[in-house]
Amino acid sequence: MSASVYIHWFRQDLRLNDNPAFLQASELGCVLPIYIFDDINAGEYAMGSASRVWLHHSLTSLSESLGGMLSCYRGDASAIFEELISRFDVRGVCWNRCYEPWRIARDTGIKKMLGEKDIPVYSYNGSLLWEPWDIVKSDSSPYRVFTPYYNKGCLQYEPPRMPVTKTDKAHFEKDNASKTIDELSLLPTIRWDKKMVLHWKMGELGAQNRLKTFLHEGLNSYIGGRDMPGKCSVSRLSPHLHFGEISPHQIWHAAQAVSTGTVEKLHIEGFCRELGWREFSYNQLYFNPELPKKNIRPMFDDFPWESNDAQIEAWQRGETGIPLIDAGMRELWQTGYMHNRVRMVVGSFLVKNLRMHWHHGERWFWDCLFDADLANNSAGWQWVTGSGIDAAPYFRIFNPVLQSKKFDPNADYILKYLPVLTRLPVEHIHAPYEAPQDVLRNAGIVLGEDYPHPIVDLATSRKRALEIYSSLSS
Ligand SMILES: Cc1cc2nc3c(=O)[nH]c(=O)nc-3n(C[C@H](O)[C@H](O)[C@H](O)COP(=O)(O)OP(=O)(O)OC[C@H]3O[C@@H](n4cnc5c(N)ncnc54)[C@H](O)[C@@H]3O)c2cc1C
Repeated sequence: MSASVYIHWFRQDLRLNDNPAFLQASELGCVLPIYIFDDINAGEYAMGSASRVWLHHSLTSLSESLGGMLSCYRGDASAIFEELISRFDVRGVCWNRCYEPWRIARDTGIKKMLGEKDIPVYSYNGSLLWEPWDIVKSDSSPYRVFTPYYNKGCLQYEPPRMPVTKTDKAHFEKDNASKTIDELSLLPTIRWDKKMVLHWKMGELGAQNRLKTFLHEGLNSYIGGRDMPGKCSVSRLSPHLHFGEISPHQIWHAAQAVSTGTVEKLHIEGFCRELGWREFSYNQLYFNPELPKKNIRPMFDDFPWESNDAQIEAWQRGETGIPLIDAGMRELWQTGYMHNRVRMVVGSFLVKNLRMHWHHGERWFWDCLFDADLANNSAGWQWVTGSGIDAAPYFRIFNPVLQSKKFDPNADYILKYLPVLTRLPVEHIHAPYEAPQDVLRNAGIVLGEDYPHPIVDLATSRKRALEIYSSLSS
């Protein structure tokens, strides 16, 4: 039997600062810090391709911060714990809670198994500002509308706890039988990821730097700016938050601490409110574990969804002939991220103009997003469809051309991802198919060759979607 250890199980908390469970393990004694890539219990929610790439880099960074003492494993977490217990004198296991239904089920089983062996589990809240079960209505039922959830539920509850400081006294044990990060095989065999990662700095330090940059350069134009995909007004913290390289508590308190002399209260409150939307997604998932699969509004179960592989592929590849849609899908493909406004517009286009089931979009985002997150992604797709809790009504169909003219008036965002349209006068970039032939010719564009014809007529498809919707609701 080797040394007596307290295991800290890193999961969605890949950081050393403001990590309550890691702090507890460090204070209890010698820490065996572990990460388990558990694609067995995850089932169909095993990490998508982009997430695995992020994870590889994030673990590399974490391992460096731990002086190379991180022990990694791949497989069923319960079996790995059984095996660790047979080789180490495990005095306790510390973790920060996860909220996805499959993780809750798995962790409950592991906690029971450890309890039967008299090994205590110390669990903490490391990734939500408020526990889902704490924010409920006065009759203990979950909120179904965001504004009262946030204003009456969250803001009237205790304020988010202050970040905890990290200890410098921790000492570690490493399992020589563990895998290296490379042996987890997270990177793709065909290396499509190399350019994508250049847009990001994964890891705790990268997350802290991103926050600092945003607080200095983005926060003061957040309200208004957050809807403009061509501006640098959003934080792009979502993948860092998803992997727990930074906690929402650190972000919340850093934003609140910005002097309101330089940044109006309006922007700070607006930004924190978006963190509230993240909380609301987790609240929805906690109380509706079927959120990733099942329409919350059952009337959508009868919707006659279309099935057209060519159209789905055109949407995925950013070849729909509608520039804002194509720019968004290419941003996703090239950077592993898509601006929130554009997520809403490409989602509406898929579900309403093309009338494809939202599962197609949810799965594609799951595979391509660096911030792919079960709670936010499921809630986001149900919101876009109108099938979810406090969702956009189905009849509110975004017109991608009007959205583009309003939120990307100079086409800065579109041209970044569709440089082929550069020579078109700006007023025609939003809908090249409406440009006169001589304008297209002068810009060197042949529709169908240099840039696609639209795969669907926006007005007709909108009308058809509304007809179907009213037949369902009547
Ligand atoms: C169809 C669809 C799918 C989505 N899938 C995901 C996903 O898989 N993972 C994910 O993290 N977000 C998802 N979102 C929510 C949102 O688009 C992203 O959180 C946001 O774009 C992240 O960018 P940011 O960090 O610059 O946001 P900022 O505007 O800087 O906001 C700060 C943080 O607040 C949270 N936040 C902001 N907007 C939202 C929102 N609408 N819903 C929930 N949380 C929000 C995020 O954690 C974000 O990092 C989805 C939205 C839609 C419409």
